Amino acid sequence: MAPAGSRTTPGFPARNLPNLQVLSPGLFWKWAFLPAISFMIPSIPKDFQWIPCENCGSDSFDRVVSRDPSAVVRCKSCGLEFINPLPEEDYLASLYQSEMQGKNDTGPYFKEYIEDRSRNARSYEKIYFKRMELIEGFVPAKGALLDLGCGAGFFLDFAKKRGWEAHGLDILPEYIDLARNQLGLDNVHCSRLEEMDFPENRFRVVTLWDLIEHLRHPLDYLRRINRIMEADGKLVIWTPNTRNAAYLRDRWTGYGPRQHLYFFSRDTLGPLLQKAGFQPAYWQTTKTKKGMFIPQDSLTFQKIVKPASRWGRIVFSMKRDLNNFINPMTYLSPVMDELGFGFNLLVVAVKSRPLSPDACNS
Ligand SMILES: [Zn+2]
Repeated sequence: MAPAGSRTTPGFPARNLPNLQVLSPGLFWKWAFLPAISFMIPSIPKDFQWIPCENCGSDSFDRVVSRDPSAVVRCKSCGLEFINPLPEEDYLASLYQSEMQGKNDTGPYFKEYIEDRSRNARSYEKIYFKRMELIEGFVPAKGALLDLGCGAGFFLDFAKKRGWEAHGLDILPEYIDLARNQLGLDNVHCSRLEEMDFPENRFRVVTLWDLIEHLRHPLDYLRRINRIMEADGKLVIWTPNTRNAAYLRDRWTGYGPRQHLYFFSRDTLGPLLQKAGFQPAYWQTTKTKKGMFIPQDSLTFQKIVKPASRWGRIVFSMKRDLNNFINPMTYLSPVMDELGFGFNLLVVAVKSRPLSPDACNS
């Protein structure tokens, strides 16, 4: 229930309006006053839609931060954070295409991503190795693995080489071309999960690396995943962690990317997983140092270009090591990660109950 005095009508971000009950106890004043302040009420931007909370259905929110032309809100009932009004699917698809195919100094972003993955292949392989070791600790044997939002397929390629039957989906055609033609992956499709007709109980493991924050309806999506997973199958999700915003709050870098629609913590992702028929079995947060004190407008997340000369690189490394040595966060960060404040949130969840077909059409 919304607290007395708060406005929850679509189009009224709760914090933005005066508390009418404080201003005037009687109905007369409310009706007399509303037209006078109507010019203050923000209209819903084109291509955007007001939605209730995906987790609990409440329509009462606090504004966390403005993100033109919309805002990040926090559900007053369950704490889930998301963009409201929410962009329409077509708007998001064109945003994704333009951001990935759009050009910066060095070319389209997707090319930069591919070059980065190729140039730093050994670093990424270490990451993939850790991920697969973790996953394989939860399953009795290797089987069919589906990576949703698989990008150009580098993680899938690694999984395939370890003996997994690797499947992937992404909506950027350039990624799927590369996955097929350069990495030789067969089971990758330029498609959304909703458009595929995977049979029930098809996959032993489903992974979402940096995907769930991009979805318009994550609960519906998780329910679809439940349907195509084996009994006792494992779902792995990696996403930015809102508890990392404890210090920076509205300036937290996780709120920045325009493609991010939902913002989770263990407290809000856990209930969503349970509603979709999953039981979280393992939580981890990492890189507190990366996000906790680095605001959105900082340049720290931009790619670091190392000097070309050998001596330049040595001096660069010494400076970096010295900075790390004197920075207290170097020592505090692992503790903060353990306490759940890391920038990245990782969960391994077990399919604990099958859902009926109707549950995916809610
Ligand atoms: Zn809620």
